[in-house]
Amino acid sequence: MNSTGLSRDNIVALVDCNNFYVSCERVFNPALQGKPVAVLSNNDGCLVSRSQEIKDLKIPMGAPGFKYEALIKKHGGALLSSNYALYGDMSARVMDVLSMFSPDVEIYSIDEAFLGLTGFRTRNFEEFGRKIKSTVQQWTGIPVSVGISTTKTLAKIANHHAKKTPAFKGSLCLLDEDRIAKALERTPVGEIWGIGRQYDKFLRQQHIETALQLRDAEDKFVDHYMTSVGLKTVLELRGYSCVEMDEAPSAKKSIVNSRSFGKQVSDIAELQEAVSNYITRAAEKLRKQKSVAGYLMVFLSTNRFKEGPQYNNSLSTTLFPPTAYTPELIRIALSLLEELYLPGFEYKKAGVMFADIISEADVPLNFIEACYLDDKRKQLMDIVDKLNRRHGQDTLFYASSGVSKDWQMRRAKLSPRFTTRWSDLPKVK
Ligand SMILES: [Mg+2]
Repeated sequence: MNSTGLSRDNIVALVDCNNFYVSCERVFNPALQGKPVAVLSNNDGCLVSRSQEIKDLKIPMGAPGFKYEALIKKHGGALLSSNYALYGDMSARVMDVLSMFSPDVEIYSIDEAFLGLTGFRTRNFEEFGRKIKSTVQQWTGIPVSVGISTTKTLAKIANHHAKKTPAFKGSLCLLDEDRIAKALERTPVGEIWGIGRQYDKFLRQQHIETALQLRDAEDKFVDHYMTSVGLKTVLELRGYSCVEMDEAPSAKKSIVNSRSFGKQVSDIAELQEAVSNYITRAAEKLRKQKSVAGYLMVFLSTNRFKEGPQYNNSLSTTLFPPTAYTPELIRIALSLLEELYLPGFEYKKAGVMFADIISEADVPLNFIEACYLDDKRKQLMDIVDKLNRRHGQDTLFYASSGVSKDWQMRRAKLSPRFTTRWSDLPKVK
């Protein structure tokens, strides 16, 4: 700890699956190995996952499939429709393997998770990362890259280089000052987690082009020009851990909300409350980015690091038409939970994931069932979101989310979020 109250001795790994959807397809169709393969969005529209061979052909992410179909076929490759049931299941398997390596796994998206490694006694974290990589590969068939450092933002950067530079063999650890500086120097500012296009442009105008330049920017500049989110990024680059999962920049492909409980939970009523809460938060994120989801997964797990019977499982469903309407999502999630739940286990964690996310504007017209966007349900959600934004989270909440929330992580000793909440800013007298 130092004078800011932020810890500098965390160690965290980011494990990210390589070309995840394509990799899932290749597990079940090995003939696709080594060929240019891409997975298309819903209704076979645009490329949402590309193999390295597709990237080498310079076919961009998001490109319309039909435009490149002939070229891909010419090279012996394939364009595939998305199969979220398969990706969701493979994701659950990968996460299950990861949960053997740390009691503290935070699933960030369908193909990424942070593993807390603080206090781990290993001399060689890079080797530990390679062990994770080879185990996941062997047990699920999915190739992953591992980045390890002191903060989530730095672990993301380590992961980026582990993936891009073959010499690292899929695992890079940034704990040493010199190595951190070198990696940051080779990271364009726009590549940093949470730096959006606008910020990227602005920083470049200020002649801040690399992550190293941003880290070493003068405090005066940071205080004056950066928002609280930007400030958090700078602190993380400096090695101070301050990004919490629920404030993390949202992933594009999928939205996950999952937490470890503050106590062992075996009662389904408490799990129902937790799942309702997670859905509520995740659906808010969906609506905030003006999108809808076509796939929903609910997962449940016991604590592998405790003795006793173990149970890890997930269930999912497609959402048709795609939606972001909370009451309906809660209803579906609770029915999945009911099917998933087995009595007699002590659960440590539950979570929900939305995938097959598309922008509201791209929702196809559908004459069989009206989309929530086209009727009063959308207006209702807008009103709820507005009220909760203005008067605080859960001013209006769903009855199934519960009132006491006994399952929640105990945070009575949580220090104020000095750097991320204006209301928690330290006061100078
Ligand atoms: Mg990935």
